[in-house]
Amino acid sequence: TARGLAAVHAGNMQVAVARPPVPLIKAVHVDGAPVPAAARAPLRLAAGSHRVEIEFIGISLAAPERLRYEYRLLGLDDNWMDAKGDTKAVFANLPSGTFRFEVRSHLGTGEASTAAASLEIVQEPQLLERWWFRVLLAATLVAMIVAVIALRVRQLETQKMLLHKTVEARTSELETEKRKLQSISEEREQLLNQVAESARAYEKLSKEDALTGIANRRELDRVLSAEFARSVRTNRPLSVILADIDHFKRVNDEHSHAVGDAVLKHVAQVLKHACRKIDSVGRFGGEEFLLVLPETGHDEAMHICERLRKSIAGEDPVSGPRKDKTLPAITMSFGVASLADETTHERLIAHADAKLYEAKHAGRNRVMG
Ligand code: GH3
Ligand code: MG
Ligand code: MG
Repeated sequence: TARGLAAVHAGNMQVAVARPPVPLIKAVHVDGAPVPAAARAPLRLAAGSHRVEIEFIGISLAAPERLRYEYRLLGLDDNWMDAKGDTKAVFANLPSGTFRFEVRSHLGTGEASTAAASLEIVQEPQLLERWWFRVLLAATLVAMIVAVIALRVRQLETQKMLLHKTVEARTSELETEKRKLQSISEEREQLLNQVAESARAYEKLSKEDALTGIANRRELDRVLSAEFARSVRTNRPLSVILADIDHFKRVNDEHSHAVGDAVLKHVAQVLKHACRKIDSVGRFGGEEFLLVLPETGHDEAMHICERLRKSIAGEDPVSGPRKDKTLPAITMSFGVASLADETTHERLIAHADAKLYEAKHAGRNRVMG
């Protein structure tokens, strides 16, 4: 026999035939490769799926044709499986764990062999099934998540910093722009003020006589025509006075043109100060002055005129004789005209001029009206 020499007693034959043999595990193949017997205690299967083939054999000299096997894999299924005449068991894709393969034999439908051949199989767990790997994996995942979060946080912080810098730069640009706009607006305002001032100055100049600073001929014309129209409309009195410096040519000739100018300025100031607020005084031309006296009848105008004459001639009882001795003594002649039958202000002036002419011919330094 396979175990060596065997002695057979004829008397025991019936017993031997009745007992099925204990099967032997003949060969083991893992993924088609034979596994030596030394590497089967236990049979260690590396992680991953494997195909395990276990061949077994039972030696029965009595009735080998009736020999049947059944096996089981404890740990996977405790029920015996009929090998159905086959002499090998095949397992594939075992889960991780420890199993015990057992095979026993039958003779026909008789009882099973008293003992079973066994083979311990240890299926190493997949890396993923090992607790430390899972912990490591979880730790790695956590570490990765933390790293990703940290990276994202850093990115966001960098973005925030960049944004902050951009905002700061933009703010300072805007501040600069604002300052520029402010200075432009200030300059604009200054220019507008200058223009307005120039316009006012120009308007004033356009109304003023350059030498004396009182109203010029054009302004006098405007005032007179307005006052004339108003007086006609309201039927109120209006008088005009034309005043001319006597022998003024002599002043220029005997002194100088500059002294002549100073006399003209002096006369302008005296006339202006002697007038009422509602009156207008202007230089009519050369050494001739015109006074427009609204709300003033002829008699009153004559009185005012007499006062002016005295003032100029230094005979004013209030202010006394002329104080300014630097200028030559002068006198003026006056012609007065009041609103009566005159249809235009030009005719009113012509009337006053005629009266002035009379005053000159009558010996100067007098009032005619
Ligand atoms: P009358 O008494 O008849 O008015 O004699 P008058 O010398 O004053 O008159 P006339 O018309 O002969 O001379 C006026 C002079 O006034 C002549 C002119 O040179 C002078 N004159 C006119 N305008 C100015 C001026 O702006 N400055 C100076 N200094 N003299 C002027
Ligand atoms: Mg004159
Ligand atoms: Mg004169």
